[in-house]
Amino acid sequence: MWIDSHCHLNHPGIKEKGSPSKIIANAKKVGVSGMMTVCCRISNEFNTLLNIANEHDNIWCSVGTHPHDTKLEEEKKLSQEHIVDLVKANDKVIAIGETGLDYFYDNSPHEQQQQSFRKHIRACISADIPMIVHTRNADEDTAKIMREEGEGTNLSGVMHCFSSSPWLADQALDMGFYISFSGIVTFNKADELRQIAKLIPFDRILVETDAPFLAPVPYRGKVNEPAYVANIGEFLADLYGISKEEFAKITTDNFFRLFKKAKLI
Ligand SMILES: [Zn+2]
Ligand SMILES: [Zn+2]
Repeated sequence: MWIDSHCHLNHPGIKEKGSPSKIIANAKKVGVSGMMTVCCRISNEFNTLLNIANEHDNIWCSVGTHPHDTKLEEEKKLSQEHIVDLVKANDKVIAIGETGLDYFYDNSPHEQQQQSFRKHIRACISADIPMIVHTRNADEDTAKIMREEGEGTNLSGVMHCFSSSPWLADQALDMGFYISFSGIVTFNKADELRQIAKLIPFDRILVETDAPFLAPVPYRGKVNEPAYVANIGEFLADLYGISKEEFAKITTDNFFRLFKKAKLI
């Protein structure tokens, strides 16, 4: 049994695969028994995601605004109190995010991204719920803010779709965070990432698709879907030289240890 720890079931790009119910059924057919559909914009997609989660067993969601979209988000939706309220009011909300810093696309000013990141971290600490971190080309600021806000607190979470430096992986592990690998790890040119993957302790690894983006080999370039997390998991099991059943159990146990609000039905 696999769990896709990060996908976007409401994304326009995934619509060609069918309705969320159809995509979830496809995944279940190949042993992907659960997934988290991750929020990128509190104001205009949280309710859609919550409905998808409420309508299906073993589908959970998060609440948060992506660093790309911080400049578009209403100030009050980004407040710590508002995020905490949404977490507390809904059993299916098991994480806060995705939040973080993206200096690669630079869609929102750095200062605004940093403020939003800090608010999300404070909400995680206050609600005692894990955080989903998105970071690109911002290793130093990401680690700095996580430390400034989170050191000595109950902060936990995952570095999603990990593609940063070994240094940031180390920093995150040191702070008790998990590292999640997407289809990128299957790409031909991803040798450095595979080297990093080999250094992560088994009890800190998660797998995800980030669907509809980043489909793994052999679907590279096509629209991704949660069913393909099984391909990513099998690829990593091979890399580690263990059976896919063992690796599926490891990553599934990790998921439920981190996202403790998620209950399997
Ligand atoms: Zn992301
Ligand atoms: Zn994402």
